[in-house]
Amino acid sequence: MKVDYIIVGLGLAGLAFVEELIEANKTFLVFEDDSQTSSLVAGGVYNPVILKRFTPVWNAKEQLKIALPFYKRIEDRLHIKIDQKFVIKKAFKSIEDQNNWFSALDKPKLVDYLDACLDSKSYNGVIADFSFGNVNEAGRIDTEKLVSSYRDYLKGNGLIQFEKFKHLKLNTDNEILVYKDITASKIVFCEGFGIKQNPFFNYLPLNEAKGELLTIHAPELNIDFLLKSTLFVLPIGNNYYKVGATFNWTDKTSNPSKEGKDELIDKLKKVIDVPYTIVSQSAGIRPTVAGRRPLVGIHDTYKQLVVLNGLGTRGVMIAPTVAKNLFNHLENNEELDIEIDIKRFKK
Ligand SMILES: Cc1cc2nc3c(=O)[nH]c(=O)nc-3n(C[C@H](O)[C@H](O)[C@H](O)COP(=O)(O)OP(=O)(O)OC[C@H]3O[C@@H](n4cnc5c(N)ncnc54)[C@H](O)[C@@H]3O)c2cc1C
Repeated sequence: MKVDYIIVGLGLAGLAFVEELIEANKTFLVFEDDSQTSSLVAGGVYNPVILKRFTPVWNAKEQLKIALPFYKRIEDRLHIKIDQKFVIKKAFKSIEDQNNWFSALDKPKLVDYLDACLDSKSYNGVIADFSFGNVNEAGRIDTEKLVSSYRDYLKGNGLIQFEKFKHLKLNTDNEILVYKDITASKIVFCEGFGIKQNPFFNYLPLNEAKGELLTIHAPELNIDFLLKSTLFVLPIGNNYYKVGATFNWTDKTSNPSKEGKDELIDKLKKVIDVPYTIVSQSAGIRPTVAGRRPLVGIHDTYKQLVVLNGLGTRGVMIAPTVAKNLFNHLENNEELDIEIDIKRFKK
């Protein structure tokens, strides 16, 4: 089999790059081994504001301008609904917290997103002593539905193989790559935390962070906004909510843990005061990078080898933009944004 591209990994990064290939009528084959779960378990929230510091997300406006039509196009092609728009209500912890919100209103990059009027209503079951601030133009992509539907779509078209890609079997001697009975002009590695097993790119400084979420059923909680407090409570319909997320920098497994569960239950006590049952728990490793910029670009020695990784905590917003930039860099001589280029890290 002869293809233009081999893609390793079909999470948000791989999917975003495959979309570029489909749009450009390139041929490709994807390998996916189900070793990582980050894109499957993600909350999927897109939010242009960093609510811990009331600062704008890097290139938020530009990213949303590309990301929202990107997901709409997939919704239309796959006949699925994955984009759920909502307001985020930030529950203030103190008067100081409120004052920081008012100061943030002066930042030009935030005016489109933050409401100047606070919401002092009370919502059954929600603990909030200092009102809420509304963030607009936010929402959630149902990443589990997106990734699984997309894999089915590729499977139906014979474009994905569900097996581990074995790096040592890749022949890089010539300009054309050879892997088993496949020849390809380029290979793009979109492996998330799996990059640690990649001998070509494992020198890159991925500072991975495990995250865990609970799905709960709370019949007396009736909110249609994302509640952001010490953790987020995200409505997914019929009084079910996703609650998260933890950050663990030492556990490198994707298994749900008792520590993660206990931490979420403990924090949730300070956020809602109505009964709930836990329906499920999930976990994954976020491919985060110190400096919060993705890891994208071409291998120093083997120019046919390419990486698209480091989407960190915001893969939903970032993936479509960086995949587009990478594709145009490889195919149309566009400059790669120096902030994301792996050239910033020496081998
Ligand atoms: C608990 C949690 C909550 C999150 N919430 C949000 C959120 O609300 N909003 C947001 O934007 N982001 C969120 N994220 C972050 C988001 O999940 C990531 O930014 C994104 O999913 C990373 O995508 P990726 O494709 O780079 O990596 P991954 O999703 O890890 O995908 C890599 C893929 O490569 C495959 N793979 C790896 N090695 C090989 C190999 N050798 N052969 C074949 N296949 C291979 C893996 O199986 C996997 O499917 C969250 C993450 C977690 C864990």
